[in-house]
Amino acid sequence: MGLRLFNSMTRRKEKFIPIDKKTVKIYTCGPTVYDFAHLGNFRTFIFEDLLKRWLIHLGYSIKHVMNITDIDDKIIKRSSEEGIDSNVLTEKYINHFMNDFEWLKLQPANQYPKATDYIWKMKEIISTLIEKGNAYIEKDGSVYFKINSFKNYGKLANLRISHKKQPNKTLDDNYGKESLHDFALWKGWKKNDGNVYWDAPWGKGRPGWHIECSAMSDETLGSHFDIHCGGVDNLFPHHENEIAQSTNYSNQKFVNYWLHSEFLLIDGEKMSKSNKNFLTIRELRSENFTPESLRYQLLRGHYRNKISFSKSKKYESDKIINRINEFHKLLKGIGDNTFSSDTLPIEYSEFKLAMNDDLNSPKALAIFFTWMKKCTKMIKEKTIEDNQIISAINFLDVFNKIFDLHKSRKRY
Ligand code: AMP
Ligand code: ZN
Repeated sequence: MGLRLFNSMTRRKEKFIPIDKKTVKIYTCGPTVYDFAHLGNFRTFIFEDLLKRWLIHLGYSIKHVMNITDIDDKIIKRSSEEGIDSNVLTEKYINHFMNDFEWLKLQPANQYPKATDYIWKMKEIISTLIEKGNAYIEKDGSVYFKINSFKNYGKLANLRISHKKQPNKTLDDNYGKESLHDFALWKGWKKNDGNVYWDAPWGKGRPGWHIECSAMSDETLGSHFDIHCGGVDNLFPHHENEIAQSTNYSNQKFVNYWLHSEFLLIDGEKMSKSNKNFLTIRELRSENFTPESLRYQLLRGHYRNKISFSKSKKYESDKIINRINEFHKLLKGIGDNTFSSDTLPIEYSEFKLAMNDDLNSPKALAIFFTWMKKCTKMIKEKTIEDNQIISAINFLDVFNKIFDLHKSRKRY
């Protein structure tokens, strides 16, 4: 059985069939760069990395685009508080983000488009939506998307919509499912925005958050692509709104598979800036956490389940990483002079089944660790045969390519 992924749109696991047999196109919502990214953000990015690595292992090549949100309400607020230009603020945090991203051994994306480089495309989409009657201009120069003009509005978030009711409009990018709104495609300039604005036929201003991803995905991956990912908090309204805008703009299906990862919790609460309970990578580094130990803590839970992070689990996860490193040494020590082949132990088939079942990483890890224990025993008792050594080296190599828990910094 091939790869099956849970599609948030249909709320079931579906066989993965790419649009193009060879290259899978993936768009992931990237960071909003007004501050350091926290470990909760990286839970989502590590899940996306796992997905990419598994697809590569299955033989696909990947075109991955991760956007950088470098213009939004929080960025304007923070740069005016700090009295600096928004570009200066965002460049600083893009650099920090890229360093953390590499340190955690995440595979680089093919492209990192910045929202401010695609304002022209956002204006083009907005103009088309106005022409089609899907959007309207208000007196202050703001433009709103008319959610009643998209017949499938609410399908992703599983909402029942009454198309007879006229929704209120909002300039806020974030609101709950209980309050449906016509949302802002363009926010007319206000005094607080200072010098952050772009000219547009309907008045100067700046884009809303949702239109940014519709523009960047369309320009980099085309109107219809395979997989779109993000954390569960992106599902509504961000992704629901992306679907409405993109579909009405292009008259095509937007995305085939929607994948969302659950939250990383700390002390039972979502890790977030607003809850003030977040941990940055630099803080964890200063406490001697290793990338492998953090990767392990984030990958040992299934991506669709909440997981809790606790600094007290450092000892336990360091011990597991040490065991993998010891096993690696032991195996390479006895296996270097043996012939090579591409055989794999039977446990690999179970590992593959688990990963093909919607990336069941906890199960795949358990299968690997049980096998590793068995193999270590055979090596120590000198009962392991040459062909078993070769297949063990191969399995360890596959395992490292997927989970990257071995301390080497080899880039796969
Ligand atoms: P942001 O920088 O706020 O736009 O978030 C970047 C990504 O991190 C988004 O996909 C969010 O859904 C995700 N995210 C934010 N907080 C958490 C968390 N506590 N656990 C998992 N993912 C999160
Ligand atoms: Zn997005």
